[in-house]
Amino acid sequence: MEPTGSHPQVIIIGAGLAGLACARELSLAKVPVLILESSDGVGGRVRTDELEGFRLDRGFQVLLTAYPEAQRALNYDALELQPFYSGSDVYRHGSFQRLADPLRHPIAALRGAFCPIGTLYDKWFALLLRLELRRLQTVPRQTMEVTTEELLEAYGFSENIIDRFFRPFFGGIFLEKELRTSSRLFQFIYAMFSKGQTAIPRLGMQAIPNQVAASLPAGSVRLNTSVASVESGSVTLANGEKIEAPHVVIATDENAALKLLNGPETKPASQRSVTCLYFTTNDPTLPTTPIVYLDGEGCGPVNNVAILSNVSAAYAPAGQRLISATVIGACGSEALEGAVREHLARWFGEGVSQWRHLRTYTIANAHPESRQSHTGNYVQNARISPGLYRCGDHLEDVSINGALLSGRRAAEAILATYPPP
Ligand SMILES: Cc1cc2nc3c(=O)[nH]c(=O)nc-3n(C[C@H](O)[C@H](O)[C@H](O)COP(=O)(O)OP(=O)(O)OC[C@H]3O[C@@H](n4cnc5c(N)ncnc54)[C@H](O)[C@@H]3O)c2cc1C
Repeated sequence: MEPTGSHPQVIIIGAGLAGLACARELSLAKVPVLILESSDGVGGRVRTDELEGFRLDRGFQVLLTAYPEAQRALNYDALELQPFYSGSDVYRHGSFQRLADPLRHPIAALRGAFCPIGTLYDKWFALLLRLELRRLQTVPRQTMEVTTEELLEAYGFSENIIDRFFRPFFGGIFLEKELRTSSRLFQFIYAMFSKGQTAIPRLGMQAIPNQVAASLPAGSVRLNTSVASVESGSVTLANGEKIEAPHVVIATDENAALKLLNGPETKPASQRSVTCLYFTTNDPTLPTTPIVYLDGEGCGPVNNVAILSNVSAAYAPAGQRLISATVIGACGSEALEGAVREHLARWFGEGVSQWRHLRTYTIANAHPESRQSHTGNYVQNARISPGLYRCGDHLEDVSINGALLSGRRAAEAILATYPPP
């Protein structure tokens, strides 16, 4: 295809999944786009670093294969998705208790039915909730909105299963353990876990944005290019250069969008943060199941662990294991590593003291606060003023799905302004 970057019809600020999805949709409609990205790569919050043969995602993250927009936008086969075990091992009172998905691992689920995490009623309620939500394709905008904790209580789940399972499991997804996140987002994510698999691309999460970027015409993305301000019909870069186009899409994270719209002094919106520590070992006694381990005791600091090389062997060099430990909040102090080792020695034994620390990622602006209150009018949501549009996870559900969906919605809002062919 011809390079399109020099005379764009649409400038997109930000090469996260929302900006890339917007560009892809416009490119499919033969509209020339130019993405301006301030960092050195595409993907935004979905990036993977390579270090000594290890693949380190910038924070533990997964793709839920049931995400409808991801199914639409991505080629799963080419991503070589590697699934996790459908269930979790919850650490409580000196050992792991397995909570398995009853439809995918019925025998393990039957064994777990009598484990001390939750009651038989809880397991029954979990199945009922799954049935109730099985048709959900988007975040439900019409259901009553309460907090996730209130919804679980109203459903009749016991305090035991809320504290031991829902709090660490959904805490790791929402990046807050109070479960104050909207019940609507919970319902959507619960449905996605029930309907599909939890997976990572064989070569790391970066494969997802790379795949979308590869579908764009050559020259569509300019990296290391920070936008300083947005005017009607143009943007001005941090180096003073001005680029014109009839349409501009702000596809940045929420706080960068607020600054571009309201000026650099704008008060930032509150964000959720997370810290991810990577370790390696060649200890052959470590478990080999590709499962997520959860803290069912609530005494921290670690919320969840995954031995990623059990899920995708390509995440570590041969003979090595790659372990990710997630701590909710931005707590990248030196003391943290010791506290994490101490905590994980209770889970995996004294060998943890010999694990080699590879890197710690502290992600201060990992998630915007979840707001699920918009009306569902996507064009209104995407259009700021004539010629100026926005997209990003802060406008949809905070997820890979939400980012991809909002990017497509912004593209559709622009395409609607063109006369029919
Ligand atoms: C640690 C972590 C774990 C997560 N886990 C999951 C998970 O398991 N499953 C899931 O579905 N979702 C998960 N998410 C959420 C998901 O990654 C995000 O919702 C999604 O990637 C957001 O994409 P976006 O395009 O809206 O924003 P971003 O990815 O933030 O993209 C915005 C882009 O804009 C660029 N930019 C900003 N300002 C400017 C400027 N002035 N000029 C030019 N460029 C600019 C940024 O550099 C960035 O590349 C996780 C997120 C994090 C951080």
